[in-house]
Parts: sequence; structure tokens; C-alpha cells
Amino acid sequence: MSVYQVKEIFRTLQGEGAQAGRAAVFCRFAGCNLWSGRDEDRERSPCWFCDTDFVGTDGTDGGKFRTPQELTAAIAKAWGDAPRDHAYVVFTGGEPLLQLDEALLETVHEAGFACGLETNGTLPIPQGVDWVCVSPKASTKLQARSGDELKLVFPQEDLPPETLEELAFTHFFLQPMDGPQLAEYTAAAVAYCQEHPRWRLSLQTHKWIGLR
Ligand code: SF4
Repeated sequence: MSVYQVKEIFRTLQGEGAQAGRAAVFCRFAGCNLWSGRDEDRERSPCWFCDTDFVGTDGTDGGKFRTPQELTAAIAKAWGDAPRDHAYVVFTGGEPLLQLDEALLETVHEAGFACGLETNGTLPIPQGVDWVCVSPKASTKLQARSGDELKLVFPQEDLPPETLEELAFTHFFLQPMDGPQLAEYTAAAVAYCQEHPRWRLSLQTHKWIGLR
């Protein structure tokens, strides 16, 4: 990797899934392999519901980083002076696996961070990720068939939860799709989890309290 293109880097609390409430630096890479980010392509994408701005490098502390060390320094700066013994960085996107590599994981580990990953699961995962969260999308080929957390945005018409249960994840989450039908989808996810107790409800708690 010659240059890492990063949309934004910021400190927050992880809002979703099994790590909800944990202090983390989010490193959002630019670009995704499932959608260009342009509105005219949205309907053709399996992620027509995507609510993330991952285009360009113009977000908070975003930019082009020439080396793993440069990007690690930016992540460490965002973490600030808090103790490093529970330091945590979440690599997200866009699709972080277009750029995340073992060299970066190594330097971030050396700086004292555990590394989380939020991926759509269509690309190979490098060695060294400490927490793998896969959020599969309908009509894509899933390469990541095991990990810590499967987080399904629900509902997706062509991707019912029961088709994913053979995968080897520790946690299975349904996360109601955000948007005008959030209340309806939340009720449907609650009902599904009650009937299928292997699945747990994931809520985007950061949005309730105004965190990024
Ligand atoms: S994979 Fe994630 S970031 Fe990429 S378009 Fe789909 S929802 Fe958005």
C-alpha cells in the first residue's frame, strides 16, 4: 500500500453491536467496492440504503497518509491522552479491506491499539485483526464466513437472516435499517429476535445521544 486514503478519523464510542459503549477511534477509509457513493448509482447498488459518506478525504482529520506510521500517528493523536491499555481503533469505510493491510495493523498494534474491523465481507481479511464484524449485503459473494460478529442490516429482501446461520460467528445481530421506516423495521427485528433467540438486536445508540 503506497497511500492510505482516509475520509475521517475521530474519537467516539462504538455505538453498535457487541462492543457498544466502548471508547474507540474510528478510522474511515475512503471508497467502497459495493457502491460508488454517487446518487445516480444508488439504485443499482446492493447497498441502496447506505447512510455513510465515504467519498474523498475531506472529513475530520482525513487525508492521504503515505506510510503505516503516518496513519498510526494520526490515530494515536485522535485517541489523545487516555490510557492505552484499552485503546481501540475501528477500521471502517466504505470498505476498509480495499486498503487495510498487515503493515498498518502491525504499527497500530505497536502503538498499543486493539484493532476492530467493520467490513461487508466480500474481500479477504489480513492477519492481525482483533475483532471482525461482518455486515453482509444481498446479492454479494461473502468471503468472510467466520468472525466475532455478524451484523445484518434488517430487513434486506434477498438476504433473510436464516440464510446466514451456518456461518461461524460468535455473535449474530440484526440492526434495523435506518430511514423513514426505522420504527417499523425495529419492531420487525424485535419480533424476529424473540422468535429466533440466536439473534440479538443491535441499535445505533450513538445516534440517540448525538455521537458520531
Ligand atoms: S458496503 Fe457499507 S459502506 Fe459500502 S456501500 Fe454498502 S453499506 Fe455503504
